[in-house]
Amino acid sequence: MKATGKNFVITVDGPSGAGKSTISKRIAARLSLIYIDTGAMYRSVAWAALKQGINLTDTTALDQLLSNIKIRFQADDDKNLVFCNDNDVTTEIRTPQIDQLASAVSGVPLVRDALLPLQREAAQGCPAIIDGRDAGTVIFPEAELKIYLDADLKARARRRLKDQAGSSEISLQSVTQAIADRDAADSSRAQAPLRMADDAILIDSTNLTIEDVCEKILQLFHARFDKHEEEPDHE
Ligand code: C5P
Repeated sequence: MKATGKNFVITVDGPSGAGKSTISKRIAARLSLIYIDTGAMYRSVAWAALKQGINLTDTTALDQLLSNIKIRFQADDDKNLVFCNDNDVTTEIRTPQIDQLASAVSGVPLVRDALLPLQREAAQGCPAIIDGRDAGTVIFPEAELKIYLDADLKARARRRLKDQAGSSEISLQSVTQAIADRDAADSSRAQAPLRMADDAILIDSTNLTIEDVCEKILQLFHARFDKHEEEPDHE
């Protein structure tokens, strides 16, 4: 894929709660890119498995589910609607139960192998921004701009708690623990573990606002792509 400014990929990886989806959505709106939320795809598989009562160790049933699954995104103002098998699952895939199940689902090689082509297909032929854990290392190793968005655990837990403000029974301690557990599982799994790509740029958002992070990414984007736009095409 060439960095002509017409057809390119930006990847945003990092641990849970670093702000990847909020920031990717804003960048997508500012640069008119397709936004692909790969975490929502794992969440959708978890949702469908739960709905169909499928145990994650039942590979036959899981294989069946994966061969029929349909996941699509629809931009709606600042929201990114997620549809799984034609059901709007945007809200249902954001519960603590699905947080945990999606994390478990993402460690199953069968699931990763099935979602990889769908993730690549979603960006086919369109400039896109993709957020996840392995977007820059596995899904789009040739991406033109790779960001690794991090923040310290406490800051990430505080942000998550704010997002879940409706549920008063959730404590900062339990959110911190849940995030730490997901980070540990994501970083230690055998297939496509969470890690920063060698050519990714690290942004630590602990003390930055959403807008600060967006500005940094936009500056990186313009520094890279405006230059390419001015160069003659030698291919
Ligand atoms: O980003 P989000 O929290 O929505 O992702 C849900 C889960 O999906 C994560 O906990 C992670 O285990 C998994 N995931 C993954 N690879 C990706 C995106 C998400 O393993 N590219």
